[in-house]
Amino acid sequence: FLGRAIPIKDQDGEVVQWIGTCTDIDEFKQFQQQKDNFLGIASHELKTPLTSLKLYSQFLEKNLRKREDDNNAVVALKMDEQINKLNNLINDLLDVTKIQNGKILLNNSDFDFEELVTEVVEEQQMSTRHKIEVESDNSVGTVYSDRHRISQVISNLISNAVKYSPDSDKILITSKLTNNNTILFSVKDFGIGIPENKKDRVFEQYYRVSGSKEHTFPGLGLGLYISSEIIKRTGGRIFVNSVEGKGSDFCFEIPKMNKPN
Ligand code: ADP
Repeated sequence: FLGRAIPIKDQDGEVVQWIGTCTDIDEFKQFQQQKDNFLGIASHELKTPLTSLKLYSQFLEKNLRKREDDNNAVVALKMDEQINKLNNLINDLLDVTKIQNGKILLNNSDFDFEELVTEVVEEQQMSTRHKIEVESDNSVGTVYSDRHRISQVISNLISNAVKYSPDSDKILITSKLTNNNTILFSVKDFGIGIPENKKDRVFEQYYRVSGSKEHTFPGLGLGLYISSEIIKRTGGRIFVNSVEGKGSDFCFEIPKMNKPN
């Protein structure tokens, strides 16, 4: 049951009475549960044929390139890129289910932070005309955290920076150690920015800033939600500084040595 108390005020704003309501939310919870289950099963089922499709497209592309059939190899490569996009969308849906079921656990190990940043930047640089500049004093070094999940967050922030700055050509990445045990990482773009009153909401599930440009940029509104859930689990925090029309600076802080979970 969900209980609510509503105050009734007089002309001077003094509370003169309270009205209490009690709502049975069992049905609502059941519906939520069914929706979450469906999302989990559907994403899982979509993933299997997609994995085969990816193998076929890679096989096709390799063979066409060997035969120097360049035009068709380009088509096969485009097909592979679209499969990757679909794969990322499905992975996001699977991650949401994992978060809801409390199953997104960190798999921590030692790794070199700057090396990981370089790796993700090189990968992202291949598919964008933006110049991704990395500024680092190599002060971070080895961290103990979840390499795969941190890579997912960095990748997500960079691809958002690319997506939401269509009229700019530069993205700035910085990473540094702010004290003995805290890493500060930031991705700055010079794109559309975020209105002040929407800044905190972008980390909510399915939230997308609405406006005339909403439909120009594809997306489900899940990347930042998943990223913030991952960062929360490291004991860190994620936040954004942004000016509408000027650009955004997405940052996260994580402990260099994450405690075992
Ligand atoms: P998606 O990009 O799929 O919509 P995200 O969760 O990654 O989902 O982002 C949520 C929303 O936050 C986006 O729809 C967009 O409105 C806003 N946003 C995210 N990154 C940026 C950015 N770098 N610049 C401007 N707006 C952004």
